[in-house]
Amino acid sequence: MKKKGLFTEVILFVTIPVFIVSVLIVVLSYNKFRQTMYKQNQIELKNIATTVMNTYDMVYPGDYTLSKKGGKLHVYKGDSEITGNYQYVDSIKEDTGIDITIFYYNTRVVTSLYMNNKRMVGTYCSKIVEKDVLNGLKSQFYDSVKIKDEKFFAYYRPIYNSDGTCVGMMFAGKPTTQVDIEINKAIIPTVIISIIGICVMIFVACCFMRVLIGYVVKLKEFMNSIANGDLNVDMDRNIVSRSDEIGVIGNAAVKMQKAIKDVVEHDVLTRINNRRKGEQLLNQIILDSRVKGIKYAVAMGDIDFFKNVNDTYGHECGDVVLCEVARIMSNDIVGKGYVSRWGGEEFLLIFENRTKDDAVVVLNTILNHIREKEIIYKDLNVGVTMTFGVIEGDNSKSSKEIVKDADDKLYIGKKAGRNRIVD
Ligand code: GH3
Ligand code: MG
Ligand code: MG
Repeated sequence: MKKKGLFTEVILFVTIPVFIVSVLIVVLSYNKFRQTMYKQNQIELKNIATTVMNTYDMVYPGDYTLSKKGGKLHVYKGDSEITGNYQYVDSIKEDTGIDITIFYYNTRVVTSLYMNNKRMVGTYCSKIVEKDVLNGLKSQFYDSVKIKDEKFFAYYRPIYNSDGTCVGMMFAGKPTTQVDIEINKAIIPTVIISIIGICVMIFVACCFMRVLIGYVVKLKEFMNSIANGDLNVDMDRNIVSRSDEIGVIGNAAVKMQKAIKDVVEHDVLTRINNRRKGEQLLNQIILDSRVKGIKYAVAMGDIDFFKNVNDTYGHECGDVVLCEVARIMSNDIVGKGYVSRWGGEEFLLIFENRTKDDAVVVLNTILNHIREKEIIYKDLNVGVTMTFGVIEGDNSKSSKEIVKDADDKLYIGKKAGRNRIVD
């Protein structure tokens, strides 16, 4: 099975669910808001219809009656004829955008509605309204009742005379498209802002995750390099300078790298470079010499009659001597090269950027310090000498050949009486 990356997992299990939930919240909020706006419109229509009815009752006290003069409809309220007087309903339409109609039974007698530039007086209400309001005697809201060719968001309520008989209806309404436009005008900016907000939030989260995952990938590469034996790989500075968990892991990884490096590259007893590190340094300097043409010298050193030290003072004393000799060589060679413990009491010295003559000068200092050193072990004063064989670096030779050449010189020194430098 193909491995999923961290970033893909974050997208799958965090970003996509967050996006879906956010979209659901926006859709639900949109619908809730829409319903509330519808409710508000209904309340507005109901209030206006009631106000118009009350105003008619106040201005024209009395019942609604019909008289037909000259074949025309004349509707009275009390003593006043209301047909033909549209001033009030027109002014409401102008102020609020809401159409008003007074029905005498199912017929429009006063209205602000027009069809083909003609006021819709004398036209009838729809069958459904007649059934619900006029016959059913109950007030009713409609989301989209058809009047002429337009759908209306409308409120109808029955009108009663003083004897309790229903004589008509009061209508208040506005075109459904107009209500939708008003609602959308109020909601859409909020929806757009929410969607932009969600997108920005997800984008920022993705960018942030990308950066974090980038660090995790770098940590993985760092660990892989160490696992593959590259102990000199550098950790990204941005990781170790972080104060969060990533920084903690990064610093722990660097500590682990140092610990492994220490174990792998240093001699347990003397704490100087071990043979493995010595070989690595020698190979590196040979390579540098070939590429950059730098010069170098190599020496092999061996403690003289070291077996006697062990035999006379004990192995523990021999260890102290080894440590002391290693310390002297390390101190004296600083800045001029590297010392590695090559074998039991043998040491490889590499002199970087130096000729054989330069190396001989440093080796003389080392040898003098070793000769002069009084190594104290359990009140005993132990002294040792060393023999060194030194050669000039040679590009054409392998590290093995170079070490052998230095060893051969060392052997000559041993044969010639020890405690000397052979070049
Ligand atoms: P030469 O001058 O010819 O080098 O004589 P030598 O006695 O130094 O050489 P030889 O090879 O006979 O003896 C080396 C001794 O070093 C033998 C071994 O026990 C001892 N040795 C090797 N490693 C250690 C160590 O880690 N600690 C101690 N104390 N002794 C060690
Ligand atoms: Mg020896
Ligand atoms: Mg030896």
